[in-house]
Amino acid sequence: MNYKIAIDGPSGTGKSTTAKLLAKELSFIYIDTGAMYRAVGLYCYRNNIDIDNEEQVKSILNNIDINIFYKEGNQEIELNNEIVSKEIRENHISNYASVVSQYKDVREKLVNIQQNMAKKNSVIMDGRDIGTVVLPDADLKIYLVASDEVRAERRYKELIEKGQDVKLEDILKELKERDYRDSHRENSPLKKADDAVELDNSNLSREETVKKILELFNKKVGK
Ligand code: C5P
Repeated sequence: MNYKIAIDGPSGTGKSTTAKLLAKELSFIYIDTGAMYRAVGLYCYRNNIDIDNEEQVKSILNNIDINIFYKEGNQEIELNNEIVSKEIRENHISNYASVVSQYKDVREKLVNIQQNMAKKNSVIMDGRDIGTVVLPDADLKIYLVASDEVRAERRYKELIEKGQDVKLEDILKELKERDYRDSHRENSPLKKADDAVELDNSNLSREETVKKILELFNKKVGK
């Protein structure tokens, strides 16, 4: 039997870290859907595509081949046969991803890949529209939230550790802009699915967050 867990929520709530740990614990496949939108953003950045021009973005989608695979337990993402797992994490690519993800054709292309991956495996997928659009029949849906300040601080630490030169105030501002764009767009906006469990982890460690979700999952599947 294949199970599906959907984790949605705004940036910096620890969705990816939580989902990765849960996947390990449950031996499920972890699918980071944000990485796919980032790969489209990276392609646009590298090829000087005007991301505010929907037609232009639409016109390059057939030139993009995205592939996700697993190496020593870690997810790697390929853009046209090049591994770009590190490049997509650059801070400016976050904004590229958030802009291109507004477009219907971009979403259709990526949702299709995501749904196909979930057909064959037990998965934990994280993103913005997993519980509402990608996996509406997920066995468990989590909507992860945390305060703006906690989220900005987490993201800041993560980028500094990666050696990126960023300021906390800029991160907070960009985070709010991205949240606004993600939750106000016309196509698949970020929102809590009606049947999702909302979990605020502002004051929880990553281990506590994982433990809570595991308890919810076990309860749901009757373990
Ligand atoms: O999760 P992450 O911050 O890596 O995602 C980057 C951007 O991709 C988000 O700000 C959002 O605009 C977009 N995204 C999306 N739908 C998803 C995952 C990510 O629109 N399922």
